[in-house]
Amino acid sequence: MTIHLTQTKPPVLSVVLPVFSVVLPVFNERESLAELHRRLSSVMIALAEPYEIIYVDDGSRDGSGDLLAAIQQNDAQVRVLHLSRNFGHQAAISAGLDHASGDAVIVLDADLQTRRRFCPLLAQWRLGFDVVYAVRRERKENLFKRSAYDIFYRLLRQVANVEIPLDAGDFCVLDRRVADVLRKMPERNRFMRGIRSWIGFRQIGVPYNRAARFAGQPKYSLLKLLRLAFDGFFSFSYLPLRLASLFGLLVSFLGFLLSVWTVYKRFTLPEFPSGFATIVVGVMFLGGIQLIALGVIGEYVGRIFDEVKQRPLYIIGERRGFDDERQAPDA
Ligand code: UDP
Ligand code: MG
Repeated sequence: MTIHLTQTKPPVLSVVLPVFSVVLPVFNERESLAELHRRLSSVMIALAEPYEIIYVDDGSRDGSGDLLAAIQQNDAQVRVLHLSRNFGHQAAISAGLDHASGDAVIVLDADLQTRRRFCPLLAQWRLGFDVVYAVRRERKENLFKRSAYDIFYRLLRQVANVEIPLDAGDFCVLDRRVADVLRKMPERNRFMRGIRSWIGFRQIGVPYNRAARFAGQPKYSLLKLLRLAFDGFFSFSYLPLRLASLFGLLVSFLGFLLSVWTVYKRFTLPEFPSGFATIVVGVMFLGGIQLIALGVIGEYVGRIFDEVKQRPLYIIGERRGFDDERQAPDA
């Protein structure tokens, strides 16, 4: 009797997985998009390896979304995620990371401030570094903004409980395994550069000169920047809470000394003054400190509230260019 063995062929993979995924958050960048895509594509083609470009339309209101859809129609390498509203730069980066499948993920800005400058970063990634972040050598912004950034980064470095490198923005190259870890991090208040440092692995900074914006105004308003700065401080440091207790201790100690002094004077001076002004000053001072301490606690409580609500970081309205377009978005 003969037994026929049917040979099973291994399944043929029809999709070529990209080596590089470029993630670009886009918020009202209509003027830059065409030029950005032209330049970016030429750099990517020159690298001669499979790639994908993921544009995350962060609720743009200036027609950037339609422009991206048109770009995607003409370029098979392009994927577009349209978020349902403006969720902010950090959430847009998370959306892009969640959908990137390359061995290396390149996170860029869509305003051409970082163009072409990722090649030196890629070289470090090829050498085996898992996180290669760009460090700004100079800024092209005005003096006020430059000094605000300077103070923020230096202060954050002093108080943060992880080492966050100075002047490193979100522009970076991440290895696949780092991108996978970042995807699994459940934090809602995303201060990407902090989380990126926190996860460890082999990290290196590469200095670069930041160009001026190609077109348009910065999309980070002062309020958004402040929010980001607060996220940085409160997500990576307990110092504000500790300062509140330290200050409380100090004031209580002063209060104790003062009471001893008052009692002493009460018995030694025949006509001890009533001290109305002292009372007012004391009440105002203590009231102020208490309010500040409450505010600090509030910052943390608010963040805890954000975490327990477990809302998704972003919501995808539409996806273009992905193979599994009909699958429910996994936010
Ligand atoms: N951005 C975004 N959502 C926002 C704000 C900004 O996706 O709510 C994008 C913006 O389109 C740009 C990048 O984030 O690609 C960096 O923004 P911007 O250039 O304003 O920041 P800066 O370079 O001044 O730090
Ligand atoms: Mg910019």
